[in-house]
Order: sequence, then structure tokens, then C-alpha cells
Amino acid sequence: MSVVLVLNSGSSSLKYRLLDMVDERVLAHGLIERIGAGQGSIRHRAGHVDVTVAAPVPDHAAALALVTATFAEHGPELTPAVVGHRVVHGGSRFRAPVVVDDDVEAAIDGLSSLAPLHNPPGLLGIRAARGAFPDVAQVAVFDTAFHATMPAAASTYAIDADVAARFGVRRYGFHGSSHEYVSQVAARLLGRPEAKLVVLHLGNGASACAVAAGRSIATSMGLTPLEGLVMGTRGGDLDPGALLHLMRNGMDADDLDALLNRRSGLAGLTGSGDLRDVLAAAGDGDERAEAALGVYVHRVRGYVGAYLAHLGGLDGLVFTAGVGENSPEVRARVLAGLGHLGLALDPARNTAAGQGPRVISPDGAAVPVLVVPTDEELQIARHAVTLAG
Ligand code: ADP
Repeated sequence: MSVVLVLNSGSSSLKYRLLDMVDERVLAHGLIERIGAGQGSIRHRAGHVDVTVAAPVPDHAAALALVTATFAEHGPELTPAVVGHRVVHGGSRFRAPVVVDDDVEAAIDGLSSLAPLHNPPGLLGIRAARGAFPDVAQVAVFDTAFHATMPAAASTYAIDADVAARFGVRRYGFHGSSHEYVSQVAARLLGRPEAKLVVLHLGNGASACAVAAGRSIATSMGLTPLEGLVMGTRGGDLDPGALLHLMRNGMDADDLDALLNRRSGLAGLTGSGDLRDVLAAAGDGDERAEAALGVYVHRVRGYVGAYLAHLGGLDGLVFTAGVGENSPEVRARVLAGLGHLGLALDPARNTAAGQGPRVISPDGAAVPVLVVPTDEELQIARHAVTLAG
């Protein structure tokens, strides 16, 4: 019961990882890209093996067949005891990971209207894996589930309650596997399981989460992953009146979808959604890039302050994901001048090259600041083993 296959299906990609959960060792991992295009490819890594092969991958079933064929040719043996799937939206029904059966599959399908970009590929991955491994338990782990513990005060939008209930309009939150994993590592590092933490997941997508005693009590993403922080191509918080204004001036739902998902955030403000480009441009004196960084950091700091109030204190602030793990400059800008809240960085620790979980505040700081590399796949594998075991 120890070997787990984790699948993370995107619309045109499939990430996989095979783990031995006795010691949480990665046996193999890889990525298939350009599913549905004329020619796709797989990169497979296992021990000393690192192969990239081009192949036609018309759909997710073909992608999984390519995975099994690649394992058969390059190893290791692919005989998982359980398959864990990342599913983005669990709606109000799925408050925890679940073993997939026909009913669960149909329910995930039914939630696609809440996450039209994200749930359909997750479902395709599940269907392909049920076909490829019919006798193996499939576990769905939802990005929303960790936030099911949010109190109603944090999850309720103040609109007509009947409309909200009829259309499922409430805050669900996302990045749950990341916030859960990172907050567990941080609490262990601090030796305080009851710790009050703010986790800043700053990647292409970005969200903040307030965690008390291991439970999410507030998070910045909402009904969809569009709300909250400034992201690579999404702008986060926006007056809903702006949408009405744009609609009355001729934009329709598809126009707004493209604007909000692809032409906003750092990309909308600067032309590049990659924070490294924005930092480099700002370093060269580009005013637009500097202004965009200002918007990005202002938003993060606002959530830190809000969550400090919601938590009624703070035992640790944690940075994670691509930007949070790798950018000392963004971390320094976020925490500048917050000494009165007990938040400070040790400049040498902040800029030191590091891989694992680490403290970057000075010794004896009132509130430790940490960097914790996230690992959503490992968290999914843990849930899969727990459920199937
Ligand atoms: P995803 O949300 O797609 O999983 P990641 O968590 O990998 O993304 O984060 C990707 C982002 O991390 C990119 O926008 C990139 O700009 C940023 N990033 C990666 N390395 C650095 C770095 N050294 N400095 C600043 N930003 C970085």
C-alpha cells in the first residue's frame, strides 16, 4: 500500500509523480505537454534516467498510455496502490479528499461551471486513470477543501442570499494543498501545532491564507481563482462595478474572461507576467515596472494586515511558491517598515541561497518569518494514502 501515483492534469499538460510513501521518496516524475496538439512530448525522470520523447498525444487517455509505456521502457515498475488526483474545485460538496466512484465523477463534472478552465482537465485525468488502472483506488484531492473550515463570516459574500445559494456564489478558496502542506511544515519548524500563521503563496497564481491551529480561517481567492492578490496574468481584487461599467461599454463575458484571466495582473500592467522580468525592468529604471511592483506589494501587505487582525495575533509569516521562495527583493518589499508588528527580516538570511524550509527573520524576532518550499504533489500523495489505506 505504499506506492502512490499523483496526477495533476491541466488542459494541455499532465504532471505525474510516483512516490514510495514509506519514506516519501520520489521514484519517478515527469510532464507531458501539448496534449491535443499535433505533436506532444513527455519528459520522464527516474533516478539516473532523464528522457524526453516526442509523440502524438491527442487526449488525456493517450497521455496516460504514454506514461505507462514510458515507465515500461525506462522504469521503474508502475504498480501504484492508489492514484491521487489534483482537482481544482470541490464546491460545497467536497470538504475533504474523497475516493472516486461514478457518483463523485459526476459531481466533479457538475462543478465544472464554477471552474470551466480547471475542472474538466482534472476529470479527464481521473477518467483516463480509472481506465488504465481499473482495480486501483483513485482519490480526488481538491484545492478548495482545505478552506472548508473557514467560518461563514469569511466565506460569505454580502449579496442577495437566495441568489448566492442558488448559484453557489461564496468564497471557496484555492491552493489548498499548498497552504495545508506549507502551514504544517511551518508549525512543525516552529514547534507550535496551534500556531497562528499567514501563508503567502506567491507563484503565477497567488493567494494568502490565515491558518490557526492547522485550519484555514480566511483566504484571498474566492468563488474562482481570480480574487485577491495581484498575479502573473490575473489582477485579483477589483470593484465589481468595473465589470458592469465595461459590459455597458460593449464588453461581453468572453471579453471579460480574457481580460481578467490573461490580460491583467503583472502582464496587464507591464506586458510580462513573469515577476523576474518585472524586477529586472524596475532595476533598469522602468517606471511602469516599478509602479506594478508597488501595486503587487501593496496588495500583499494589505492582506497581511487584515489576516493579522482576523487571527488576533501572529506566530509566523510564511513565504512559498515561485516568487515567495526565490525572490528576496519581493520579501523585503512586503515586510519593509513592519517592525512595529514584530515583522522583520535578517538581510543575510533573506538573501542567502537556500533550498529547504528556513527562518529568515533575526534570532529572537517577535514573529518568525519563514520560507517553506511548497509541495502540492506530496500533500496529495499523503491524502491519497490516508484515504485508501
Ligand atoms: P505556478 O503558480 O505556475 O506553480 P510557480 O510557483 O512556479 O508557478 O511561480 C512562478 C513564478 O515565480 C514566475 O512568475 C516567476 O516570475 C517567479 N519566480 C521564479 N523564480 C524567481 C526569482 N528568482 N525571482 C523572482 N521571481 C521568481
